[in-house]
Amino acid sequence: MNKTDRQLGMNKDISRRDFLNGVSIAVGASLLPGSVSAQSVGAQDVLGYYPPALTGMRGSHPGSFEVAHSLRDGNRWQNSDESIDTGEEYDLVVVGGGLSGLAAAYFFQKEAGPNAKILIIENHDDFGGHAKRNEFHYNGRMLVDLGGTEYIEAPWSYPAPAAALLKDLGVDIGLAQQVFNHELYHSLDLRGGIFFDKKTFGADRLVAGAADVEPYDQEPAYPTLPAELASGNGDRNAVSAFLSNTQLSDKAREEILQLFCGGRDYLAGKSIEEKIAVLKSISYLDFLTDFVNADREVISLLSMWRASYMGNGTDLTPAFNALGYGLPGATGLGLVDEIARSPERRTHNHKEDFHFPDGNASIARLLVRRLIPGVAPGNSMNDIVAAKFDYSRLDSRESVVRLRLNATAVHVRHTGDPNSAKQVEITYVQGNDASRVRAKNCILACYHSIIPYLCPELPKAQKEALSRSVRMPLVSTNVLVSNWKAFEKLRIYAAYCPGSYFSDVRLTYPLSFADYESSRSTDEPITVHMYRIPLPGGLPAVEQFRAGKYDLLSTPFEQFERNIREQLGAMLTNGGFDPARDIKAITVNRWPHGYAVGTDAENDKMHWFSDPWPNEKKIWLKGRKKFGRIAIANSDAAASAMTESAIEQGYRAMQEVLSNS
Ligand SMILES: Cc1cc2nc3c(=O)[nH]c(=O)nc-3n(C[C@H](O)[C@H](O)[C@H](O)COP(=O)(O)OP(=O)(O)OC[C@H]3O[C@@H](n4cnc5c(N)ncnc54)[C@H](O)[C@@H]3O)c2cc1C
Repeated sequence: MNKTDRQLGMNKDISRRDFLNGVSIAVGASLLPGSVSAQSVGAQDVLGYYPPALTGMRGSHPGSFEVAHSLRDGNRWQNSDESIDTGEEYDLVVVGGGLSGLAAAYFFQKEAGPNAKILIIENHDDFGGHAKRNEFHYNGRMLVDLGGTEYIEAPWSYPAPAAALLKDLGVDIGLAQQVFNHELYHSLDLRGGIFFDKKTFGADRLVAGAADVEPYDQEPAYPTLPAELASGNGDRNAVSAFLSNTQLSDKAREEILQLFCGGRDYLAGKSIEEKIAVLKSISYLDFLTDFVNADREVISLLSMWRASYMGNGTDLTPAFNALGYGLPGATGLGLVDEIARSPERRTHNHKEDFHFPDGNASIARLLVRRLIPGVAPGNSMNDIVAAKFDYSRLDSRESVVRLRLNATAVHVRHTGDPNSAKQVEITYVQGNDASRVRAKNCILACYHSIIPYLCPELPKAQKEALSRSVRMPLVSTNVLVSNWKAFEKLRIYAAYCPGSYFSDVRLTYPLSFADYESSRSTDEPITVHMYRIPLPGGLPAVEQFRAGKYDLLSTPFEQFERNIREQLGAMLTNGGFDPARDIKAITVNRWPHGYAVGTDAENDKMHWFSDPWPNEKKIWLKGRKKFGRIAIANSDAAASAMTESAIEQGYRAMQEVLSNS
């Protein structure tokens, strides 16, 4: 270990190093039916099994995906002599224990009655899918943060089944403003800022935003960006003052001022309709290069603006959508009304977004506690955050609903002609063994891209449609630090980091529940949340997603750790932060199958939710069709990376299987 590594704290025993990572990928690649897998059979029954508290590489952790990738690569579990018949029979088997699958199970139980026998099969060591909880224990205190899904966005506009589910679970969305302490960081004079890194901008410099600028009213409740730059429609003096603290060249500063406050019409000479057509046909990056003629520094600065929300950089966001999200350049275009009407300009008050400390993992936990009584104490949204789950009860013979973890479904088929069969047989791999169960109905709430391999009997056109399904990869990371005095000294609670490995860094959301309160004082431990968008840029969307997925699966934890230590060290050094001393644990949630998005049949155009595509172009509608006793849920079924879509699709799938006689 060299001196720099030691200075960064790479020698500190903070958490499990991911030495398994490379090995488990290699094992997965050679998996054959019946051979040794990286998954741990029956592990959830072992005393003390509690995955939320695991640190290191989480999200798609080693051991969760190798069997599915092996299936994709040609291994099959189609013959009964390759699997053990468990003899188990269910009314419903759900493949995929994310929010869509859990919601489908819940809706099914509600309709079919409390005695309906349900099995949920999930290939990760924890339930929830993206809705994942990260839990840390330090100096006798528990701190939780979100491993994936952040919050319930615009809950008042949730579609009926999703709104009803939240109500049934006791989530009181009316309390959104009470559980979120909107004043805490402001009362400590902390703001959003920008970290300019040496490699991209010539020197490491953290610039905090102004304290006296009103937050942008369309902004999520907790803006990372400096307030004076958040709206794309800034106050000239405030933007100018911010820029004067940066190392940007005079030319770049002038261009940024012009973009944010200047009122120049970059599309002069075109009609309103022509302008909209142009902006919808080019990326925001193209807009900057071809119409603004922007300086390299300006392009770098804006490259990842709001990327963690959109899931991609400005090279993939259509210019019109980007302007709707508040990226600058619209002030002189004469499109105020058109942009204001765009769905990106969500009209709800972001203070109404409902936050749990572990994100929407609390919804998953509420669902599981309801489905499997006795798995955790409590009965309200107030006690769910601190509730300790007994994982050994998840897959109990005594329970009518069972949740089987570390189990990858590998074959789903009707027992006979799909038009008349009375049962579906589901084969899954857990540990070294393939086993099979039978059910009257099956809901596939897993990623759509695996379904053609899982269910070869589907019609060819449907399999083709399913195989078009893509997801945007991303990384959501939590770093436990012993205190946040450096943030206080530097007057920031969050920073946008355009050139860095992680593009967004922020202190945890300040939240209060009856039995849980996030860190209040700067000498207390806290979690720092960091986002990475692993897209290489410069390629069509789907190719970028593929490259990003590969990047995530081939980057060892140690590399993430080194980058985290370097970035936080460089960013916070003037605040006295010492990565070797102050970092106590790291959890990297990598999501190679991240945000659900739609593409057209040629796979070259990405669907933004504002695009008025005709139904025949929405290939996910073809992919999700019911087939005999098998229905298809998941957020992929709506090509929408939203919690309410996952729930709504679970509801639709439940209705479809219930229509079976
Ligand atoms: C980082 C991040 C942040 C987000 N933030 C928000 C937010 O703030 N608000 C919001 O509304 N939405 C947010 N989303 C989107 C939201 O989380 C998703 O739309 C939703 O949780 C998806 O649920 P799902 O059940 O459809 O899919 P998933 O969560 O992907 O669950 C599917 C599950 O099926 C499992 N599976 C796949 N194949 C198999 C198999 N063969 N056998 C067994 N199991 C299998 C998968 O491993 C996975 O666990 C976010 C997403 C991400 C990645």
